[in-house]
Amino acid sequence: MESILVLTHGNEASALTKASLEAVAAGMGLASRLGAPLSIGIVAADGSAAASALASAGARLLAVSGAAFAQPRYATDAAACQALCRAARASIVLAPESARFARVMAGVAHRLGGFIDTHITALGGAEHVEVTRWFYRQRVEAVLSRAARPWFLLLDAGTHAAFAGAPGSAQTEQVAVELPAPHTTVTGLRAPQQGAQTIRPDAGLLFVAGAGWTKKQADGQVHTSEAGQIILEFLRGSGASLGSSKSLVDQGSEGQPVLPFLTHLNQVGQTGATPRHPKGLSTCCHGEEPHVVGWRFIGERRAISLDPNCGWTRGKADVVYVADAFQVMTKVNALLAARKA
Ligand SMILES: Cc1cc2nc3c(=O)[nH]c(=O)nc-3n(C[C@H](O)[C@H](O)[C@H](O)COP(=O)(O)OP(=O)(O)OC[C@H]3O[C@@H](n4cnc5c(N)ncnc54)[C@H](O)[C@@H]3O)c2cc1C
Repeated sequence: MESILVLTHGNEASALTKASLEAVAAGMGLASRLGAPLSIGIVAADGSAAASALASAGARLLAVSGAAFAQPRYATDAAACQALCRAARASIVLAPESARFARVMAGVAHRLGGFIDTHITALGGAEHVEVTRWFYRQRVEAVLSRAARPWFLLLDAGTHAAFAGAPGSAQTEQVAVELPAPHTTVTGLRAPQQGAQTIRPDAGLLFVAGAGWTKKQADGQVHTSEAGQIILEFLRGSGASLGSSKSLVDQGSEGQPVLPFLTHLNQVGQTGATPRHPKGLSTCCHGEEPHVVGWRFIGERRAISLDPNCGWTRGKADVVYVADAFQVMTKVNALLAARKA
């Protein structure tokens, strides 16, 4: 019989991350389908405090705690995950594909003689576990199964609903970890300036800016700096994540007007990212196929475009506002500000 372990980690405040809670929900579903025992392992500065969110998960809770686990560090995280896997004797290990765990989990699988698959989007199978992932820039979807155990599976964020059971006091088994002599000391954190971070994978909304923001408008002029202000104000007011079309991010290298806060990391589409957000709003973007393929995992889609024949109106968006995005977004910003006030 399979034995399932979900590895989770805390954030700076020792609370479990959202991606960790998504992995917990995925593990609960798999364990109940297979009738397999479920353990949840926690890596955090205070594992017992983090475990309170899992009080109603109905799983065996294992934790490694201590200041060494407050920050991500390869040596300590790998040792912690290894100790948790050994304590749980798991045949299947699920973990969120966070920056912290993606870095260490292949190494942990190797140390335990296991096998790892990454970017898993779904777990299925009744008797044998089958997992789903995408290949070739999300064009091909494959269903995999493996006989090798332990089998490590890194789950893409946003593919499962996060576990949201009532918090309470939870019985946690503390697992001892033998730490190697430290080579890396974390001296502090350097975060991007407040508001400078525009890519927010956990945001409920993807806001896409297209090249139209920097094109000549009805008055024959470009209004790039006004466009930048409107977009940043909307991001601040809504907490949305910022995506872009290729044309807009390419403009910098072509000597055309640019929005300084955009990079190729913001690009959504065939040669860009395929983010996962429940909702998307496209503005000043034509909705051409190479861009819209990046919207594969966006649920509700709306677009604001001056062109009634743009790609969005051809079945690629649920609602299209044929309107001037400068005017619409200025009004939306005013409504957001009024609501905040
Ligand atoms: C191999 C290949 C790969 C590609 N990969 C990608 C990719 O990964 N991502 C990607 O995005 N593209 C990609 N492209 C490019 C893609 O085909 C389009 O050229 C690009 O998406 C166009 O960007 P855009 O819609 O922002 O710009 P434009 O085509 O210039 O459209 C701007 C739109 O803004 C509208 N507009 C202007 N002013 C306003 C206003 N005030 N209010 C409302 N609307 C306004 C205009 O009506 C127009 O529809 C790829 C192309 C190729 C060939």
